[in-house]
Amino acid sequence: MDIKQPKGTKDWLLGEVEAVEQVEQALINIAKLYGYAGIRTPMFEHTELFTRSVGDSSDIVRKEMYTFMDKGDRSLTLRPELTAGVIRSVVEQKLLHTQDLPLKLYYVGPAFRYERPQLGRFRQFHQFGVEHIGITSPLSVAETIATGITVLEMLGFENVTVSINSLGDEATRLAYKEALKSYYEPHLANICEDCKQRFQTNPLRLLDCKIPSDHQLGLQAPVIGDYLSEASQAAFKTVQEALTSIKIQWKLDPQLVRGLDYYSDCVFEYHFVSKTGKDYGAIGAGGQFPRLVEELGGPSVMSVGFAFGIERILALLTDAGRLEGVRSYVDLYIISMEPLTDQYAFRLAHNFRYTNFKTELNLEHKSLKSSIKSAVKRDAVYAVIIGETEMKSNIVTIKNLQTQEQQQVPVGEVVHLMQHLTNQPGHHHHDEEGDHHE
Ligand code: AMP
Repeated sequence: MDIKQPKGTKDWLLGEVEAVEQVEQALINIAKLYGYAGIRTPMFEHTELFTRSVGDSSDIVRKEMYTFMDKGDRSLTLRPELTAGVIRSVVEQKLLHTQDLPLKLYYVGPAFRYERPQLGRFRQFHQFGVEHIGITSPLSVAETIATGITVLEMLGFENVTVSINSLGDEATRLAYKEALKSYYEPHLANICEDCKQRFQTNPLRLLDCKIPSDHQLGLQAPVIGDYLSEASQAAFKTVQEALTSIKIQWKLDPQLVRGLDYYSDCVFEYHFVSKTGKDYGAIGAGGQFPRLVEELGGPSVMSVGFAFGIERILALLTDAGRLEGVRSYVDLYIISMEPLTDQYAFRLAHNFRYTNFKTELNLEHKSLKSSIKSAVKRDAVYAVIIGETEMKSNIVTIKNLQTQEQQQVPVGEVVHLMQHLTNQPGHHHHDEEGDHHE
């Protein structure tokens, strides 16, 4: 077949799916530890949602959106990030009126950006993130930053650092933009085309340029920290002190401005360079957004959130050897030796699954040796072997695949024996379940 996966997408295969499920579950558990509840919003939204929130002048809106007309002539866009949809939903469903503030929501799901695929960069990728909506204290910002650190530490990353910066309030950014423009003005002829546009539409973004000469120029530019109002300075200091008090390694990055239009005050990025030296870019990033909720029709409230890239987390965990051995396994591997025993094995497999054992059923009638090999490949703990003789005398043979010990057990006892042998008290026979009728 000559149809290939679309550029920039990824097929998740055997083992990878188990790994991503495990990572996502860990992320969700940590979000819950910090008091977040889940939210799921559509993968596509009205295009206007993103032009209004992410911002007309952002790279995402200008170059990276998957926008299409549907059959009803509506302009829709595959979400390039999840915050806009979450806030749209919070406002539309009036959650800020029915729930106490701050409202804490986490999300996991795919996002789509038409970017040039490279290491750690896909066109369909997955984000895990939180939104902490309607906060009143800078400590809530510190708490959110800490949530992200905890995420990485609980996944096994050591020495995670978070870069932080403050973009101040609106007045700060107005003054700063003027200063930046004066600084860049004499260099206008030499900067890249994108930067020329940034100079006009969003000078802050000039500092984001990855082109070496432009990046170099940015390093000498005035820093926003020198333009912060007293209130912004005080809030930023509170965030820093709180992070220090719980021993979070943070460093001030005066050039950090973030790519989206809606940020203000504290912004942050999590970095971790893999032991193999590969730099996948930021694993996660976020910041405060004061106007997004209002912009989308809700009340005026301060919020803070972050998003992590799941592919980058997985790549780093893989490099660190932490995902080795994450694979699809079963507890029990039932081998029916001949067609005559298939029905019997089929029923037994059903019973085991009802009692919560991960069970595979082999009806291939290969040699015992080759069937046992298949059982070992699936990391089964026990093989349950059923031949004609066993069936006739109502027994099964169980083989411990680690010790090779084998024993014959009356079929009526095998489920209980398995529960005992595998020491899984949670397993109970379905006959004991209230919802099972004989
Ligand atoms: P952003 O919304 O751009 O701040 O991205 C937040 C996080 O999502 C980043 O730190 C990355 O981990 C991840 N991310 C963003 N864009 C991509 C992409 N094209 N491919 C993979 N991960 C991405």
